[in-house]
Order: sequence, then C-alpha cells, then structure tokens
Amino acid sequence: MVALVAVLVVFTPAHQLMLRAQDNGQGRTTVHVVQRGDTLFKIAQRYGTTVESIAQANGLTDVTLINIGQRLLIPNATTTEPGIPTEVVVGPADSLRSIALRYGTTVTDIAQRNAIVNPNGLYAGQLLALQDGSTGAGGIKTGWIHTVMPTDNVYRLASRYGVPVAALLKHNNLRRESALYPGQRLLIPGTEASPTLIDLPAPYTQLALEPAIVEQGRTVILRVATGLPTAMSGTFMDKPLVMVTDPARQNRTVVFGVPPLTRPGVYPLALTATDERGGQHMLVRLIEVRDGGYPSEVLTLAPELADLINPAVTQPETDRIQGVVSRFTPDRLYSGLMGLPCSAAITSQYGTRRSYNGSAFDFVHTGTDFAGAPGSPITAPTTGVVVLAEPLTVRGNAVILDHGWGVFTGYWHMQAVNVRVGDMVGPGQLLGTVGSTGRVTGYHLHWELFVQGVPVDPMQWVRQGFF
Ligand SMILES: [Zn+2]
Repeated sequence: MVALVAVLVVFTPAHQLMLRAQDNGQGRTTVHVVQRGDTLFKIAQRYGTTVESIAQANGLTDVTLINIGQRLLIPNATTTEPGIPTEVVVGPADSLRSIALRYGTTVTDIAQRNAIVNPNGLYAGQLLALQDGSTGAGGIKTGWIHTVMPTDNVYRLASRYGVPVAALLKHNNLRRESALYPGQRLLIPGTEASPTLIDLPAPYTQLALEPAIVEQGRTVILRVATGLPTAMSGTFMDKPLVMVTDPARQNRTVVFGVPPLTRPGVYPLALTATDERGGQHMLVRLIEVRDGGYPSEVLTLAPELADLINPAVTQPETDRIQGVVSRFTPDRLYSGLMGLPCSAAITSQYGTRRSYNGSAFDFVHTGTDFAGAPGSPITAPTTGVVVLAEPLTVRGNAVILDHGWGVFTGYWHMQAVNVRVGDMVGPGQLLGTVGSTGRVTGYHLHWELFVQGVPVDPMQWVRQGFF
C-alpha cells in the first residue's frame, strides 16, 4: 500500500498532488508540486500552515529557493479544498450564478456566506468568500472544481472550459468511456486564464477588466467582445469612453483612467452595441472604485509661488494642456513596460493630497517628482511623438509626448529641451534636462501621464503593460 501511494505521487499530474499521501493518525501530509509563481509563503497560506513547518518538513535551509516542479511535503494541511479559491474578485461579466458554476458551488452557499441579500447588487471588484479559511490572500488559480450536472459529459465540459478532453480525463483519472454522475466533482485543469463561464446577454461574449480591482488615480484596460459585428459606444461614470475597434468590429479595447479624486464607491459602466440590422443592445454593469491609498502633505508657498494656487494663472494653462492630452490617436505607439524618465530618487508620489498654506487637502499632486540634479538627462519612457515643447508659466519648459490610444506623458520644469513638435522619439531617447523653470521650489522633474485626458499614476505603467 505504501508503495502504491509513492507511485501515485510520482506520476499523478500536478493539480492532483494535493492528495493525501499519508493518513497515519499523526496529522495529514499532503504533497504539493511547485508551480510557476509559487512562493513558500503562498503555499503555506493556501494549505493553512506556516513557512517554517514546510521548510522543516522538507529540510529547506533557504526558504526563498524553491524550484518549479519540486515536490514539497505539506505537514498538517488544513481546511481549504484544493482548486477552489477561498476568495474571488467579481468580474464585470460575472453573476452569482456564473461564479457558482465556475467554482462548483451554489448561489445559495455564496449568498449565505457573504450575506448577500440582493444578487442584482453584485459589482465588479467585490470580494466574495467561497470557502472557509479565507486569509484575504486572493484567489488560487490552479484549477477549478466543476460539479457535474445531469446534462454534462466530458466533451461538453472540455469545450465549455476550453481544455483538451485528454487533459480533463487525465486530471480526473477518467477514461473516455467513464460515465459521469450528477454531483461528481471534477477538477478542471488549471490555467492562469479565466474560464469561459460568464454571464452576459447576447451579443456580448466578453467583458473583462484589468486590473480586477479598480482604484482612484489608476489606469484600467477594458476588453469587450461581441459574437457578431457591432458598432459600440460606452460610458464609465457617465464619461464617454473612446474605444479601439478591431477590423471585424467584434473586439473593443478601452484604456481609461479613474480621476484621482473620485469618491470611492460603485459606478455604472454602460455599453451599447448596435448590430448590422440596427438592433441596440444595452449592457450596464456596476464597478467598484476603491481608495488608491495616497499620502497627504502640507506645503507652505513662498509669496512668489502663490500663482500655483491662483486659478486666474493656472486655469488657462491647465485648459491648454487638457486640450492637448484629450486627443486620441488610434495607433498604439507604446509597448511593453514604460521606463523611468529620470534615474533620480522619487521625492513626491502621484496622488499625494496637498494642503497649501493651511488650506483643506483639496489639491492633488497629479504626477511623480524625481529629484534630478540640475542638467541631468530626461528620457522618453517608450515610443511617442512630441506634441508640445514650449515654455509655460506654471509648468516651465514643458514637453508632452503622444503615445497613441489616448495615452500622453508630460515633463515639466525642464532646463534644456532637446526635441521639437513632430519629432518621433523611442524609449530612452533624450528629451531634455532637469531644471527649475516655472513655479517650483527647486530642481526636479515632474512626470505626468494622461489616459483619455485623466492624469493617472505614471508608476503603474512602469510595472504593468496596457494593451
Ligand atoms: Zn510634481
């Protein structure tokens, strides 16, 4: 018997290796095969144990060193059911029903567990607990449990979840001729992508947000697909969204920004698809905007800087900038992650709430400040076209790049400006140097990023790509 268990451990696919390898009355031992993205901390959380006990059970001396495919004994694994995350983030295409189906649970169970009174009040970004043992660590994406229904068979399930029949059979120790029975729980081989089970009315076939949690001052990419060619329009928070359309008119991509002072809450995303016969299909989903977690700072302005908070001086210049960054170039010039435009330390983050001379914290810092030494280089973070290069009253010597798809970056208070309007620049190309022009307290680069006219956190673009 012991030998048989050992054979199973060696040859069973990864997702089944959460099986009990021993049950000898001294606590359970589970075997986990290390997956891409795993850390000991994640694994410990998932099995309700500690990094220390896993390290001890496996004789690990360096807890940061684990390898994909490595088999780890998990002593005293508890509570959570393999494959089902403890919590999920509701997506815009989700309903309680689609979530219940996807994870092999029931609408009633989710509703009770989360004290949901009105299932129609579900919103994108909402966190739902799916089982006990939730640690708030987010979903576990290694596979999904499907509870078999009377009409199911392996072929139908394979096509519904977009996995090969062979993989489905293999992961569940089934043969082609094996009969499924209602209530049977099948492990759907894990993928990092979402399963296709969603709840959308025709002609909509996809509605997805990235990141899944939408925050003040951050960029979001929305993807919408329809099963047939349509014209489409939409709004978020009642503001029109400019969409990029594929040639077949079935896929839309929208990169948009959430204004930094948006009050946290739930806001409507409204879409209208118009099919070739003129039929209109409205879709409204609620999306939660969360607090962006920004700091506050108190600033005292010397008299010569009072212009900074004088609307008569700032407004015309702000309107001018707004006009430039509200254009939309349908070709995307940016790609990958953005580089940093300046190698100096960051002295003030985007989104910082500011009080000037004892005012309320009504001002928000709409860019990232770098403490560059006078004359140090400022470089383009990605490909773009120079659409503004001139001296301004408040912003000093300024450059704005258009990166396409409604994305612009701005560089203020420069000393030298080395580019002209119309120049195409590549990543790392010199734009100019750090200065102290305009209304400033010292030498620095203020870097700003606009998406569809909204100033958003540029640093998010250094960590995440939006296309
Ligand atoms: Zn600044």
